[in-house]
Amino acid sequence: MVDKLSGVGVSSGVGYGPALRLTRDVPAPPADDRHGGDAEAEYRRAAAAMEDTAQDLTARGERAGGQAQEVLAAQALMARDPALADDIRKRVGEGASAARAVSEAMAVYRQMLAGAGDYLAARVADLDDVRDRIVARLLGVPVPGIPESAEPYVLVAADLAPADTAVLDPDLVVAFITREGGPTSHTAILARSLGLPAVVACADADTITDGTPLLVDGATGRVLRDPDPDTVATARATADARAAAAAGTSGPGRTADGHPVPLLANIGGPADLPAALANGAEGVGLYRTEFLFLDRADAPTHEEQVAAYREVLAAFPGGKVVVRTLDSGADKPLAFLPPPAPEPNPALGERGLRMMRRFPATLEAQLTALAEAAAGTEADLQVMAPMVTDVEDVEWFAAAAGKAGIENAGIMIEVPAAALRARHLAESADFFSIGTNDLTQYTCAADREIGGLGRFQDPWQPGVLELVAATATAAEAAGRPCGVCGEAAADPVLACVLTGLGVTSLSMGAAALPLVRAALARSTREQCRQAAAAALAARGTDEAKRLARERLDGLADLGL
Ligand code: PEP
Ligand code: MG
Repeated sequence: MVDKLSGVGVSSGVGYGPALRLTRDVPAPPADDRHGGDAEAEYRRAAAAMEDTAQDLTARGERAGGQAQEVLAAQALMARDPALADDIRKRVGEGASAARAVSEAMAVYRQMLAGAGDYLAARVADLDDVRDRIVARLLGVPVPGIPESAEPYVLVAADLAPADTAVLDPDLVVAFITREGGPTSHTAILARSLGLPAVVACADADTITDGTPLLVDGATGRVLRDPDPDTVATARATADARAAAAAGTSGPGRTADGHPVPLLANIGGPADLPAALANGAEGVGLYRTEFLFLDRADAPTHEEQVAAYREVLAAFPGGKVVVRTLDSGADKPLAFLPPPAPEPNPALGERGLRMMRRFPATLEAQLTALAEAAAGTEADLQVMAPMVTDVEDVEWFAAAAGKAGIENAGIMIEVPAAALRARHLAESADFFSIGTNDLTQYTCAADREIGGLGRFQDPWQPGVLELVAATATAAEAAGRPCGVCGEAAADPVLACVLTGLGVTSLSMGAAALPLVRAALARSTREQCRQAAAAALAARGTDEAKRLARERLDGLADLGL
């Protein structure tokens, strides 16, 4: 059995304790499970179980508060969905038992969500949890939940539902490990908000048995089974040192010799502002506006847009707020902007700016709302377009922004062709922001959504670094700022390499800001340049990481 397991670290810190598994023992009602004949009474049973579940979820949300409450409220809405209730009534009318009807109706719903791209697929675990809770009530078996323990433990699960995580006692649970989930899953979001170390997408999680001592590093994604006491002590000391270093560095981002590297936050809406401000973000480097509208069937109104944008702009008086226009399509489909035709490869299809060129009125409405929202605030509004490919795209977007009265319009560099032609694109773009998540996907031809292609989804791939270097060099020659707003910016070592490649600002999820700030503060600009040159010269990702790290010796006390 392997003693080292790995997954994706989504909430930093180190946790050590015995494993305790969360199992969901709600039996699936068999296909021929039928009721006794009184369809109306059977439907009433189903409706009561759904309402009880909704009330229980709402009550858990009230106890948990904050972001967890929003998630649980969304789950309660699923349990109260009238379309779902109609489908269940129909199935019960055809003879299915209440439990079977709930299972079947929710399976239809589940398939829709699972096929709707990364962000909605992450809600499947929430839906499964709602189903299990309703079915458990109907079958009279215990509603699934967190194991009972008087001692601190590491919680291991296939996936965690918000209803579980929201009522966790952070004094008893020292870390989470899940087999499923990704950095955008609710498990990850909630782990970060509870401040618990967490590793998701840990393929071997099912091989962990109850009681096995586990050491979980939520920064690196590494999990050790039955580690010796020295290893535990070292890991703890490293985590403490990282936390102390992160807490001990404040103010604007800069290298040890004072070269400024503004540190900005990636946000999905006003709800992310408190964390951005608490972690010292100097502004917003990426406002993913499509996140505001992912769950909606209709286009947002002008007033709704102005309100959501103004709240963010008002939080950074004098600071820069880079708003990305809707990046609809591929892994972030918006129901009110469907692709014009079925797409066999959505990542290579109509998304981002391509979609806006199909629906110019939607872009115009968004830019107009942004201009109006900015008018009442002191923030420096900048807009940028995702999925830009060539000069014609840039000119089209710049003209649209200009028409709305927005002066500062840039582009994301996510497509290799755009990186290679950056010197031409710089003529019409006010700035670049490199989206390393998509740039890596397209450079290495590895779909972001396919878990098994992890090796090619690493922004340390020297091919990706070459394109970042080309973009930053072209931007500098044209006198244009060039930030990075993909996950690469959140890796403290890579953040130094990016700085050495000539990147001028870094934007990331708020939780990553303190450690990146600390890493920059411990490295001179020249060391960053040396690390960048070494990474570019490397033959592969491991060598790039090792060579870069060797040139950044100030990071030693951070255990990176
Ligand atoms: C990126 O592609 O790197 C990026 C920041 O955008 P998103 O992850 O939202 O596609
Ligand atoms: Mg992108």
